Amino acid sequence: METPFSELVQVCKALESTTKRLEKRRVLGEFLQGVNPDEISPAVLLVIGRIFPEAESKALHVGWRTVKKALGPGKQATLFERPLSILDVQRSFDEIAKVSGRDSVSRRTNLMKALLGRASDDEREMILRDLFQEMRHGVSEGVMLEAIADASGAGINLVRRAHMLSGDIGGVAQVALTAGPSGLERFGLSLLKPVKPMLGELAENLEGVFEEHSAGTALEYKYDGARIQIHRKGDEVGIFTRRLTDVTASLPEMREIALGLPAKEFLLDGEVVAVDGEGRPLPFQDLMRRFRRVHDVDEARKQVPLKLYLFDVLYVDGEMLIDEPYESRWRKLSELAPDYLAERIVSSKPREAAEFLERALEAGHEGLMAKALDSPYRPGHRGKRWFKVKPAEMLDLVIVAAEWGYGRREGWLSNYHLAVRNEETGGFEMIGKTFKGLTDEEFQWMTDRLLSLKTSEERYTVLVRPEIVVEVAYNEIQKSPHYNSGFALRFARIKRIREDKSPEDVDTFSTLRSLYEKQFERKGRVSD
Ligand code: AMP
Repeated sequence: METPFSELVQVCKALESTTKRLEKRRVLGEFLQGVNPDEISPAVLLVIGRIFPEAESKALHVGWRTVKKALGPGKQATLFERPLSILDVQRSFDEIAKVSGRDSVSRRTNLMKALLGRASDDEREMILRDLFQEMRHGVSEGVMLEAIADASGAGINLVRRAHMLSGDIGGVAQVALTAGPSGLERFGLSLLKPVKPMLGELAENLEGVFEEHSAGTALEYKYDGARIQIHRKGDEVGIFTRRLTDVTASLPEMREIALGLPAKEFLLDGEVVAVDGEGRPLPFQDLMRRFRRVHDVDEARKQVPLKLYLFDVLYVDGEMLIDEPYESRWRKLSELAPDYLAERIVSSKPREAAEFLERALEAGHEGLMAKALDSPYRPGHRGKRWFKVKPAEMLDLVIVAAEWGYGRREGWLSNYHLAVRNEETGGFEMIGKTFKGLTDEEFQWMTDRLLSLKTSEERYTVLVRPEIVVEVAYNEIQKSPHYNSGFALRFARIKRIREDKSPEDVDTFSTLRSLYEKQFERKGRVSD
């Protein structure tokens, strides 16, 4: 019999009711031992709010709007003779992820409606938490990996390693609990089998990077191309994208480069960029076309030449390098492929770094990557060992509310709610908050001005008529369930108060959406 989803809900409640890590491990361990083998992986994913394995590029594309519609009137009245099971939930999510093309929004809404319609109140709450990754029970991947180790009797290091190499915590749990330690040992780096690349976190600024990378940092150009990993095993070469798609047949020149390097076996990590005859970067779309092309590749190769920039090596001729520090991996890479290295400097001097960033931008690249000199390579991991450093972007936004400050900002309205204009409804939609960027005099000015625009006040927040326009710098637009707009700005800070602008001049929701899309494209829905 399939395990009811309500059991998973109970487990999440039990996890929420304790702050003790050991207790959480015990609850999880017992739960994992109790479910059927084919339920282990979905159970693990649904408990940590991940839904799909990291290594799979599946996404639900269900935002707050879809959920609102799915929760609306017209609830499914069908009676099911059996309760919703863990596998039912997983199957529904799989089905939703498969939806594409025409009417996809309404088809997703219907599937969501069908799922939510079958759920009890508690189950519905849990499904929504999964959707928006707000599990609230404090079970991180770390605790889950410990629970998997407890429940399977495998050592924690073995479990962590299998997870790092596969990027699939559910799969690791399933193997650990059904095949034990010997099953986990089979997870490993193997040539011609793609691994998830290591990724970087967005840095707010260079100072933050230097602070975090106290043992030194290497700054590399961040190329605006597509990530590739190149595997060579004797005469065989495999080339894979960031999403682990095999693109060997589309990129024969990369294969030739690999076969020309002085080692028989290796796994290299780098970025490929499309260039014109003079070596200047070509638009990203051209590169994507090259990645998809499998016929007449020779012709395509002439039209859109590619340039390779390597920045890491994970394995070379029998030597596994992922646990070596960055600096020694770079040395190995420089010996192996000196002609294909990414541009880089090692520096923690703010001026030098800023100049290097300028140079990268002038040459048409996206910014810099900053990599801790002492960091190992962690497949599939996005963290602070690698940072992305990109210049800020700007939007003109209107302030729709403000919160009273505390501490040094007490007495001022200092945390501002920022909104874009929705050209369809004529209203404003919030996309973030910030208390950064103003001088003390400006805080005072803002406070006086906002109070004169006040429409109501609730607890710490003063709602105002949308009149004050500010120019806001940010580093990234993210999808977010926190605001009705469905988007949120990262690292928003006010650059200027735009007294010359009126609320009709602020950027629109559709601009925001297209900026988001552009960003997403660049992040590379590469070749998939
Ligand atoms: P993002 O897509 O914004 O998360 O940025 C990470 C991506 O930047 C990687 O997946 C690479 O495709 C790309 N990239 C470009 N240059 C580098 C570099 N020097 N080191 C690491 N990643 C780079």
